[in-house]
Amino acid sequence: MNSADLDTKQTTTSELIKICVRDENRDVEKHFFCEKRQLVSKMRYFEQYLPTDEAPNESSGKSKNEHKKKREGMDMHVYCDIVVFEWLMEYINNHQPKLQIDNIISILVSADFLQIQQLLQECIDYFCKHINDVLLLPIDLSCLHEKLLHEISRHITLHQFLHLKDDKNKLTANIACYKLQDLLHSYTKTSMHAATDTTENVEEDNELYYCVYCKELYTMEQYKKIECHQSPTYVAFHGQVTAKHCAHKKWDINKYLLCLRLHSHSWKEIFWHLWSLTRPPLFCTQCQSYFVLPHFNHCATHSKLPTLD
Ligand SMILES: [Zn+2]
Ligand SMILES: [Zn+2]
Repeated sequence: MNSADLDTKQTTTSELIKICVRDENRDVEKHFFCEKRQLVSKMRYFEQYLPTDEAPNESSGKSKNEHKKKREGMDMHVYCDIVVFEWLMEYINNHQPKLQIDNIISILVSADFLQIQQLLQECIDYFCKHINDVLLLPIDLSCLHEKLLHEISRHITLHQFLHLKDDKNKLTANIACYKLQDLLHSYTKTSMHAATDTTENVEEDNELYYCVYCKELYTMEQYKKIECHQSPTYVAFHGQVTAKHCAHKKWDINKYLLCLRLHSHSWKEIFWHLWSLTRPPLFCTQCQSYFVLPHFNHCATHSKLPTLD
């Protein structure tokens, strides 16, 4: 899908729009006809070229204002794969064509370009569900721009991401990066892409801190429930003895991420590392105490793995 041009020289009757689709790869052109209202409502991209004459509060087509509409016809010129456009016309005419592994990328990109919102969501769902099969296709996925990749990363579940089979790293790094960006954005006030926003000073429960005693990272939610095993103990206001993490004031998440990258950790590894660090504390019924996910195998009570007789 490249572009569409408006040709107002030709006129047709009423609201039927002629769409001239030029397929440069196949060197063919085919004409499609579609009712203007339907075309604009389904493919929002055409809205800019085909403004409606209706008053904003006119909701039905039964108004007498219908007769006032200009009878100017318009030809749209679109550069697109003919087969893909035929599929799209079937879709907007409610003939329910099927998404398949071998057409999902073309339909996804076209649905995004033509702003067919419902189809775009269906494509992203299908894409995420069948991502391992799509990755087996000999297709260059550079046609998926940043916004689409971000949307895909939001839809792909952690389970799907964990089982992603992407030997050629076509998508993994991108998805990991966007997932990490969303994770940090929800946990810290300075995400990678908003590092300049220093005016915001909201204390987030899950913001990451670095403890000067134990050198571990923790969230405020974890701080409230977990003791620091390297911290000096002190007696709190009500007499209880506690040992708490103490935040390093100059620690910076962005420098930490940079350091991980410089040590050749992949974005996927970094995402899972940060994800595990920010999980809510778990409770060990043996120790009767809370612990963080990275310490899952460190139980104060059981120093060895259980054995079965
Ligand atoms: Zn600590
Ligand atoms: Zn335990």
